[in-house]
Amino acid sequence: MRIFISGPSGVGKSSVIKEILKRKPDTVLSVSYTTRAPRPGEHDGTDYFFVSRDTFEEMIEKGSFLEWANVHGHLYGTSLAWVESREADGFNVLFDIDVQGVIQAKAQGSKGCFIFLVPPDMEELSRRLNGRGTEDTRQLALRLENARHELTYWTIYDYLVVNDSLEKTIEDVSTIMEAQGLLKEEVIRKLPWLSTIA
Ligand code: ADP
Ligand code: 5GP
Repeated sequence: MRIFISGPSGVGKSSVIKEILKRKPDTVLSVSYTTRAPRPGEHDGTDYFFVSRDTFEEMIEKGSFLEWANVHGHLYGTSLAWVESREADGFNVLFDIDVQGVIQAKAQGSKGCFIFLVPPDMEELSRRLNGRGTEDTRQLALRLENARHELTYWTIYDYLVVNDSLEKTIEDVSTIMEAQGLLKEEVIRKLPWLSTIA
């Protein structure tokens, strides 16, 4: 099962995903490739695969990405081989990708559940992004400006979750994932005997 989570920078995607992964041992995060530099505390292979622009462009040419996009001036992409190998091992895969990535994933027929995290309001989004203290003034302004545009894409998602209380958001995302796992398409994959009964 694939679970896509998007939302403007600073809304709380990483915070929510970190807790979901702790609670759901059958779920892994799709580790994306990026040309952005690691933030303090981020590790190569865990948060992202940090690569040069040349390496990223070679991967585009080879068709290695399920989707990729230029987000806030850096390149980000999802490795198709990486995702398929985790799925073959029986894991659910959670994607933290932007709106452009979701559009591509949908166009390629990726099935799954599409969740959009929304801030309580724009002032709170700005406070969170400032409070995180990981971006310089230029990146901060760019991310806030992009947020307004990204928020107009709420219509393409299945679920809108307002990240007001972090604990409630984690519960909501967890509930959505449990319901998704009970869809007949998901259940039947684990019950091959039932699909033989017409
Ligand atoms: P994103 O991954 O969407 O860019 P982060 O998870 O890094 O966002 O969160 C941005 C900042 O907001 C972090 O400092 C985080 O601790 C804080 N934060 C996340 N969710 C909440 C919340 N519900 N209430 C208050 N602060 C939050
Ligand atoms: P950050 O630099 O804050 O980690 O991420 C910036 C944005 O890039 C976020 O909106 C995040 O969802 C998006 N992103 C991260 N990885 C990918 C990816 O592989 N593909 C796409 N399209 N977006 C990504």
